[in-house]
Amino acid sequence: MSRAPATALRRLNITADTSVASELGIYACPGCKRLLRQEEGALRCPICSQAYPIREGILDFILEELSRSTDPVLRRMRFIDRMARIYETRLWYPLVLNVYCGFHSPSLAQLVRTVSQKVQSAQGRVLDIACGPGTFGRRIASPSKEVFGIDVSLGMLRQGAAYTAKEGIPNVHFARARVEALPFEDGLFDATLCCGSLHLFADTVIALREMARVMKPGAIIAVFTFTAGRGGVLKFRRVREWSRRDHGLHVFDLPEMERYLTASGFKDFQPEVSGSTLTFSARKQAA
Ligand SMILES: [Zn+2]
Repeated sequence: MSRAPATALRRLNITADTSVASELGIYACPGCKRLLRQEEGALRCPICSQAYPIREGILDFILEELSRSTDPVLRRMRFIDRMARIYETRLWYPLVLNVYCGFHSPSLAQLVRTVSQKVQSAQGRVLDIACGPGTFGRRIASPSKEVFGIDVSLGMLRQGAAYTAKEGIPNVHFARARVEALPFEDGLFDATLCCGSLHLFADTVIALREMARVMKPGAIIAVFTFTAGRGGVLKFRRVREWSRRDHGLHVFDLPEMERYLTASGFKDFQPEVSGSTLTFSARKQAA
């Protein structure tokens, strides 16, 4: 890891050999982006004085009631929380992929392999955006890759923490946060994963810009999302329009995706389409 949070650790009076402490020393205020100080059961911003509680082992940066959100995806949080247990089973991933993207869609294992290859050369800190129960992040974590997952669903994060405890994966950390307000300083991450969620964000460019902000120049982003390909119900324009209108699901075409990436500070768009699944990598532009 090239950038140890030494200042934060000194301020917290914590030694770097405690993994939990070093993990907490990484987090910054999602508002003013200053590093947070640790106190009993919470991290507090020294500038805005806002406290972010640690609830059931999960650091929580979302202080609002999401069921009242104007965002249709966030309003369904209770459903998403409850889905956590079946998310990685045959009841969810294969079903969604086959129906949306066609019967020859890649399996979850194939998608994990594709995404892993894209970030293979990255070493250090990996940000996992809308990580769910760490579906991709905990399969990509390694002694040289420390994964920081964020998601808006507490149910998914709790499930992820349970999986990593059971599987004995030490270097995956979970926090509840929104992609539009990431709790990290600028230029911290060596790679970013965004798998199965880019199509759900209210504003794609705002989400991508915030990801770019916390990445190092030249760092790689690996994404799995949907496109209007040849397979599944997403090949029908009416289904795409209905998904967008009623479910906030954005189905991207490739030139559009490249425009969004360029507008957000990324370059080297490398797309791969299979059925209606789109996986791609891009790099953060140099400053
Ligand atoms: Zn602050």
